[in-house]
Amino acid sequence: GDSIDLFGGETSRHAPGRVVPVLVPMPADKAYSYRVPDGMAVQPGSIVQVPLGPRQVAGVVWDATEEPAVDPKKLKSITQVFDCPPLSRDMRAFLDWVAAYTLSPPGLVARMALRVPAAFDPEPMVEGLQLTDRRPDRMTPARTRVVETAADGFRWTRSGLAHAAGVSTSVVEGLRAQGVFETTFMPPPPVVAPPDADYAATELEEIQREAADTLVAAAAEKTFSVSLIDGVTGSGKTEVYFEAIAETLRQGRQVLILLPEIALTAAFLDRFEKRFGAKPAEWHSDLAPRTREKVWRQVSEGGVRVVAGARSALFLPFENLGLIIVDEEHDPAYKQEDRVFYNARDMAVVRARLGDFPVVLVSATPSVESRVNGEVGRYRPIHLRTRFGAAAMPDLGLIDMRRHPPERGGFLSPVLLSAIGKAVEKGEQALLFLNRRGYAPLTLCRVCGHRFQCPNCSSWLVEHRFRNQIQCHHCGYAERTPEACPECGTLDHLVACGPGVERIAEEVDRHFPQARTIVLSSDLMGVKRLRLELEAIAKGEADIVVGTQLVAKGHNFPMMTCVGIVDADIGLANGDPRAAERTFQLLSQVTGRAGRTGLKSRGLLQTYQPQHPVMQAIVSGDAEAFYAREIGERERAVLPPFGRLASVIVSADTRADAETHARGLRQAAPQVSGITVLGPAEAALAVVRGRHRFRLLVHGRRNSDMQAFMRAMIAAGPKVRGSVSVQLDIDPQSF
Ligand code: ADP
Ligand code: ZN
Repeated sequence: GDSIDLFGGETSRHAPGRVVPVLVPMPADKAYSYRVPDGMAVQPGSIVQVPLGPRQVAGVVWDATEEPAVDPKKLKSITQVFDCPPLSRDMRAFLDWVAAYTLSPPGLVARMALRVPAAFDPEPMVEGLQLTDRRPDRMTPARTRVVETAADGFRWTRSGLAHAAGVSTSVVEGLRAQGVFETTFMPPPPVVAPPDADYAATELEEIQREAADTLVAAAAEKTFSVSLIDGVTGSGKTEVYFEAIAETLRQGRQVLILLPEIALTAAFLDRFEKRFGAKPAEWHSDLAPRTREKVWRQVSEGGVRVVAGARSALFLPFENLGLIIVDEEHDPAYKQEDRVFYNARDMAVVRARLGDFPVVLVSATPSVESRVNGEVGRYRPIHLRTRFGAAAMPDLGLIDMRRHPPERGGFLSPVLLSAIGKAVEKGEQALLFLNRRGYAPLTLCRVCGHRFQCPNCSSWLVEHRFRNQIQCHHCGYAERTPEACPECGTLDHLVACGPGVERIAEEVDRHFPQARTIVLSSDLMGVKRLRLELEAIAKGEADIVVGTQLVAKGHNFPMMTCVGIVDADIGLANGDPRAAERTFQLLSQVTGRAGRTGLKSRGLLQTYQPQHPVMQAIVSGDAEAFYAREIGERERAVLPPFGRLASVIVSADTRADAETHARGLRQAAPQVSGITVLGPAEAALAVVRGRHRFRLLVHGRRNSDMQAFMRAMIAAGPKVRGSVSVQLDIDPQSF
């Protein structure tokens, strides 16, 4: 097991000092060798501090592969071993696996597991005060309150006690000086209380019960399996997987719940608490540094039993992980496209396989990949086809925009406006969805036709009227909305082309001046504000909500009875073979916000292509037909999951450098039967942040070794020089 020191045996007898490989959080291809000073105990997985150039960095002692060829005397020594649990063998195997699969330097992958350096030191003990038998010579009302408050035998912190007694800390300090309190040291409180598997179990409907039994049986087996809960919005998927969580908690093992939009899932945390009596620990990029450290530490020591987190939570060093849930498994947010390109959904399955425990994928609209895996028996499909209780699916309809056009200058058809009006009149809520931030996607001059383009990217600047800015959505460039055209100088002749959420809200205000309208968009508010707004909407404090895809995910608005999709065609135009799947998923999810209670509800989709298979699938509610068609097309074109894809993105400061390098790679591609290279072509966004980008797409058969091919191509290709950088993306999102 891990406690055996693999480096202590033969080598140490021959070598003057022991040498171990240490993976440092750098883009290096392999672990570096370091000397272990006499008297220091390390084992594979130990988290250590080592000198790297002029700096000291945290690294992990890795598993020995071969005898280091270097003279140990020339090696630098490990500076210290941190007092925290070593990364387990499973975790190390997982990090190695992710590195090999994604073709990323192992050090960069390890860095994701070590991102919280301060957590490696044990949490400091907290000073606590405990009441003794001594009493002060002179009692005052304030002193009496303090003594009475502390009489419960609980160990208080000084400020905590002062606060609870309603006195200043100097009163408490005065009592301590007289020996009324003695100082003790206690471990810091846990970040979250332990959940109780049997706190408030939900009584499930029969079909839910069957689904839950299947999951509980899988959890009870304590071996690797993949279940796919495929159930309509509101069918009780969450209730059902809570049962698998309960079973795992009873086994004394930890649970990880992955959510695509964790910063917005306050409602989920509350719901978990109602079922299990305590909240899960949260893990996402918005956590305060101190909280991050504590969570990391307590997850590694086993004190935190359940984590609900964003994709990066997959790299937490759980002490005893026994179950992973991937909610909304189809969500594109699970794909990280930065440094290490990975899909957390797929890597969750890998982590479960290496750790030999079950994983549950959950969605109302599973990815085509997961559907196929369910059909061929690789995953265990679990269907929930009806909504829970009295809730019915919304009545869905298409609005043919050619026949029911909006009034001049508007974007909302009279049919949709009338439906919104009816909902608002009844005291219910309406939601308008448009996946476009800002006021207008394009601004131009009416006189000369000048378009405002980002100086750093090949994209148009988007007008944000609330902020009086035009912004680039790719690099963050922003400037004040100009009053005059920079090209022809004409004043006040700028026209906004097309709608963004702000412009839709303006149109709504014109038609329903009395209604309370809220715009929800990530650029308008931080996470805290968003959470408050979402709560307010759930409480009925808004009549009409206009929002981007933030509103699509997982929220439960009981009074929402009318959902309008402003532009259902928006995602279909980009020529990506995944566009139909994505549009289907997004539109199903948004319309699924309607009718979560017994109220009659409607979903209306504004479209110029009412005959499109995606529109037909949505209104007919026939997901099966949609998947059958989509899967058939993928199979014919040998696209994932029937074939494999990888892409190479070459970027450089000049177009020529990027293109030359990409062409060089293409020429270096080995001849392998079944694998073809397409491109290079300019990337969909040809310039981002001043970097010119070219893309190669590699297509293989299901059994092609894409990683070997990519490695060979990179090795034989031109050396990366100057401003050129190359990013590899296995299983790219768009293709
Ligand atoms: P999904 O995850 O499929 O969207 P949820 O688990 O969120 O569905 O359930 C939808 C709503 O129905 C939630 O408010 C949930 O509390 C409620 N619900 C589902 N099943 C039950 C049940 N068996 N008993 C009570 N409430 C339930
Ligand atoms: Zn830009």
